[in-house]
Amino acid sequence: MTTKRRRTSVVQAAVGTDKAHKAVMPPIYMSTTFEIDGLEQKAPYEYSRTRNPSRDDLAEAITELEGGIGTCVTSSGMAALTLIVHLLNPEDLLIAPYDCYGRSYRMLASLAEKKHFKLKFIDQYDEQAVEDAFKEEAPKMVLIESPSNPVMRIADIAMIAERAKACGAMTVCDNTFLSPMLQSPLDLGADIVYHSTTKFINGHSDIVGGCVTTNNEEILTELEFWANSLGVIGAPFDAYMTLRGMRTLELRVTRAQENAEKVAKMLSEHPLVSAVYYPGLPDHPGHEIAKKQQAGFGAMMSFEIKTDKSKLAAFVDALEVFRLAQSLGGTESLINHPATMTHVSMGPEAREKAGVTDQLFRLSIGVEHIDDIFDDLNSALEKVA
Ligand SMILES: *Cc1c(COP(=O)(O)O)cnc(C)c1O
Repeated sequence: MTTKRRRTSVVQAAVGTDKAHKAVMPPIYMSTTFEIDGLEQKAPYEYSRTRNPSRDDLAEAITELEGGIGTCVTSSGMAALTLIVHLLNPEDLLIAPYDCYGRSYRMLASLAEKKHFKLKFIDQYDEQAVEDAFKEEAPKMVLIESPSNPVMRIADIAMIAERAKACGAMTVCDNTFLSPMLQSPLDLGADIVYHSTTKFINGHSDIVGGCVTTNNEEILTELEFWANSLGVIGAPFDAYMTLRGMRTLELRVTRAQENAEKVAKMLSEHPLVSAVYYPGLPDHPGHEIAKKQQAGFGAMMSFEIKTDKSKLAAFVDALEVFRLAQSLGGTESLINHPATMTHVSMGPEAREKAGVTDQLFRLSIGVEHIDDIFDDLNSALEKVA
């Protein structure tokens, strides 16, 4: 059969793979252990930390979507990054964006302090800063997160991957904010792509999970060794649920993105909004790169309200469709206040550098009716007038 279109692959993820009973939807293999045919015989499945059929179903589906050769399914997005940094030795330099996901920042900084590897945080959205960083010392690994959280900066993945390749470094991309439907880092030159599947891939805010995909045989062998050794693997039930969520990924992302484009336009024309950070807006500094490297602008954005701090609570309290909560990428719309929630531990100085003001809110746009989303934001904004 010819290669299926992505939209079909995602809908058909692991469908019809059950050999035992030809179940259309694959079962969940909860068994921790599998019988071996006889002494000194090998079996594809022996022990579920090493390999499990349900986890393999999800791994294969993600591999196909990301255009890789193999995937390790992990217990969370943080477990995915934990797995990846185990490719590094103490003398290896890792370059990472200074405004990457808060917990990633803290984990990398803490491990570097313990001398697990050398670490440099840089401004990846500035080509000169990238060039300077590579000139100073050749890295072993470059971590990219694009779009960034929360102000949606866009890093030029192909440009960074090319520089990395030239000095023999691996390029790793956190693709959580867009999902495999909207960005394919491996096609842009990255060696490894990872996700918090907690977000768009599962998409229903009911499973915490992660995955790491590569298109390099050597890297895959090492990742599989570490996934098994560290035990950072995802559970069979979680894999089943994530597959179930993933089959509607294209539908969900398409609708959420459609809504997001309208919300970004509405907010950018609103008199009480001083800034909107959405790569789909033509005046966004990363608009041209986003257009080039993404298949769409996604469902994440942030915006600043023109008001003093005292009125922010009234705005949040008035919202009924948007829920004040961490996380993103679910079917439901969420609002986050980075300064007091996701980015609180950064400290005021780093927050200012990352563009996180007190007036900044991040939105994860869901798949609800656009008019209810508009009504909700408009009536809540009236409270700060
Ligand atoms: C949520 C998130 C993570 C961490 O994933 P968990 O599943 O919460 O461990 C990493 N990167 C990004 C961009 C995220 O949004």
